[in-house]
Amino acid sequence: MADTIPPWERVRGMVPVSLCDWPGKITCVLFAGGCNLRCPTCHNASLAWKWKSLPSLNRETVLADLRRRKRWLDGITLSGGEPTCVAGLDDLLADLATTGLPVKLDSNGSAPDVLARLLRGGLVQTLAVDVKGPWSLYPGLTGQGMDAEMARDALSQVFDLARQHPGQIYFRCTKVPSLSPTDLEATRAQVPEDLPLHFQEYVSPRNSDDVS
Ligand code: SF4
Repeated sequence: MADTIPPWERVRGMVPVSLCDWPGKITCVLFAGGCNLRCPTCHNASLAWKWKSLPSLNRETVLADLRRRKRWLDGITLSGGEPTCVAGLDDLLADLATTGLPVKLDSNGSAPDVLARLLRGGLVQTLAVDVKGPWSLYPGLTGQGMDAEMARDALSQVFDLARQHPGQIYFRCTKVPSLSPTDLEATRAQVPEDLPLHFQEYVSPRNSDDVS
């Protein structure tokens, strides 16, 4: 059955000011609950899988707060969970655009068609997309959410998208404990040389009992 939950009901977290979620920018971070993957190293498992137990944020309150603080912010980061899983995502982003602030969206890269639509529509200015590791390790890295072929196919489409939208997409790989130095080299090698891939340190899950 199609997801009919209004998009703002999926917004289940906010960090008013962040210096590290959009490199070089001061942003307010909003978190969309829900994810189609089940990475055993998920940094925010409650938000990904048990988001309905978290309080939702009020649309008008958030938008008014963003407008009030606009002069001190460079933009908004929409993270998750996986924002591309949100039905009505375009409406949510259109609401955020009314603040006049640019938006960066974080994604696991599993829905290249959605990412293409958002870029074409000017609904996001920047995308940060995960490359979780070598394609062959995707089943374990994503809790069987993506196999090697799915990962290669989806991310290859995002690589093409990055070339069509220069400077708007960058790729990230988190150095989770199961990735060896050789795996990290293989990850870099499978991303085209002309596209940026940032390796970031692994942060332990906030609630280890949520990761199962
Ligand atoms: S894609 Fe991100 S939010 Fe989803 S399970 Fe993996 S680490 Fe968690």
